[in-house]
Amino acid sequence: MKDECGICSRVMRTIYMRQCQRCKKLFCRDCMTPDVATGDPTAMLCLHCARRIVSPRTVSKYGGLESHLKFRAAFTDQVKLKFARIDGLIGANLPMTAYRDQTWWSNTSTSAHAKAWLDAGWEVQEVNFKEGWVTFKKVRSLPRAPRKKKLEITQPFTPVPVRPLRSKIPSKTKVSKLYARIKNLERQRAQTRQPVRGLKPKSSYQYQRRLYGGNEKPR
Ligand SMILES: [Zn+2]
Ligand SMILES: [Zn+2]
Repeated sequence: MKDECGICSRVMRTIYMRQCQRCKKLFCRDCMTPDVATGDPTAMLCLHCARRIVSPRTVSKYGGLESHLKFRAAFTDQVKLKFARIDGLIGANLPMTAYRDQTWWSNTSTSAHAKAWLDAGWEVQEVNFKEGWVTFKKVRSLPRAPRKKKLEITQPFTPVPVRPLRSKIPSKTKVSKLYARIKNLERQRAQTRQPVRGLKPKSSYQYQRRLYGGNEKPR
């Protein structure tokens, strides 16, 4: 006897599988945990049931299926889902009736699960209990969620006002400091112009000789 794990879909011999204490379905031991409340290893829970005990659901159970179908609607109008895949989408196990009862899959919005796929714009087309899958057909396209408007420039660019430069009269200290600096520079320049001691400055005569050649002297 072989069976499929309700969570990871691995197929293995039934003797290696355990029954969940809560949903009574078979799972591999990797997808089970000892009872989260008591820690009793003989009372095993599947991970879906353990999650439901730890954090009880606040939104619709089939919201995951609804949003998945809404997502797929953008690309296709027919979707085939294995029961185990739906378990994964809704984060819980489908009830046992979903595994054998055709009416569970009927497209009547009175049931919470059918409302999920009908609200998404899909209908159940075919259910295969032997192979454990269901096909959905897209019956209507939902209006697209309005996109965020792009930021449009409607007004001309107005620069941020710049503070005008204030004409400031410098302080007397500043003026005197600057004045002293100028004086210093002048003094420095006057010093460097003076000939270095021991070096004879060239006379104007020597320049004149180079300019006019020979011993000629300009008149
Ligand atoms: Zn498993
Ligand atoms: Zn369970």
